[in-house]
Amino acid sequence: MTNEILEQLKAEYPHAVSLNESMQNHTSFRLGGPAAALAIPNTIAELQGILAFCRQHQLPIFVMGNGSNLIVRDGGIRAVVIKISGALSTVVLTEHGIEAEAGISLSALAHAAVEAGLGGLEFAAGIPGSLGGGVIMNAGAYGGEMKDVVAQVMALDYAGQEQYFDNEQLQFGYRQCYLQGRELIIVKVSLHLKEQDPAISRALIADYNQRRRNKQPLQLPSAGSIFKRPPGHYAGQLIEAAGLKGARIGGAEVSPMHAGFIVNVGNATAKDVEGLIHHVQEVVAAKFGVHLETEARLVGEES
Ligand SMILES: Cc1cc2nc3c(=O)[nH]c(=O)nc-3n(C[C@H](O)[C@H](O)[C@H](O)COP(=O)(O)OP(=O)(O)OC[C@H]3O[C@@H](n4cnc5c(N)ncnc54)[C@H](O)[C@@H]3O)c2cc1C
Repeated sequence: MTNEILEQLKAEYPHAVSLNESMQNHTSFRLGGPAAALAIPNTIAELQGILAFCRQHQLPIFVMGNGSNLIVRDGGIRAVVIKISGALSTVVLTEHGIEAEAGISLSALAHAAVEAGLGGLEFAAGIPGSLGGGVIMNAGAYGGEMKDVVAQVMALDYAGQEQYFDNEQLQFGYRQCYLQGRELIIVKVSLHLKEQDPAISRALIADYNQRRRNKQPLQLPSAGSIFKRPPGHYAGQLIEAAGLKGARIGGAEVSPMHAGFIVNVGNATAKDVEGLIHHVQEVVAAKFGVHLETEARLVGEES
């Protein structure tokens, strides 16, 4: 992956591609080293063109959505990072619900559904991810999850070919989906939703958002819950019971407000966050014999 090739990619897609782009600007944790190249395709055709370029020049690819579940290491990502967020966000009403491009934010999608008199996505209104990232992670909250509403996904493989998956083929589980770790980019999603009075949906969203504000340190950068819920427990409760609220390494802190969150209290590095994750895992394992598995995805190179 030479600089010359990356310059050529930028020259071919000047509005979509930037080089040596800091991932601090593209992750909710506000940390991480640079992407060798960052591509934000505006159309499916442009995405296919970028994929063809990467294939022709054998460039490695990393796909991201809104970066709200990512910890990018301090050495950055030596790949073409394809970001499906911000752009690729059209929404069309269908007979049974909505078909949307994967780059729309879950919040915008949930509100679009409400305005169309469709219910079922209220749980997602406060989750700061993209639709594609929400599907991959089977994002969920307040008793709802993407599994309940996704009817079909259209993805592109790295050769630019369309691949279709229905709900069953997606094999959803707790923060699990068949598409995780595969060379597939979610581009479009069909959602089955039910008719619902917008006033009811708005009240639900207001209630969920209030509960989030009361419980979660939303004013500080983070990746949300850093650990998955271990069977039979809540990660936050175990971490709090282990006396780890407020524990710090560098600029990374176990939130005193919600022990399930690690927050960036100022200039945290990914190394700080990773160090704190390991510390929490060790202490909780020693005290309670429970292994905490990270929900946030660690990617990229150490510096
Ligand atoms: C304050 C806060 C609150 C949160 N609350 C919740 C919550 O209540 N419930 C919950 O489930 N999560 C929550 N999260 C975590 C996060 O928002 C979700 O996991 C979300 O689904 C991630 O979406 P994203 O677009 O940001 O994905 P990213 O973080 O960009 O990526 C996550 C993974 O998905 C892959 N990916 C993303 N987009 C695509 C695509 N189009 N095609 C293929 N692969 C893709 C990436 O490679 C990566 O492996 C929270 C996060 C924060 C910061």
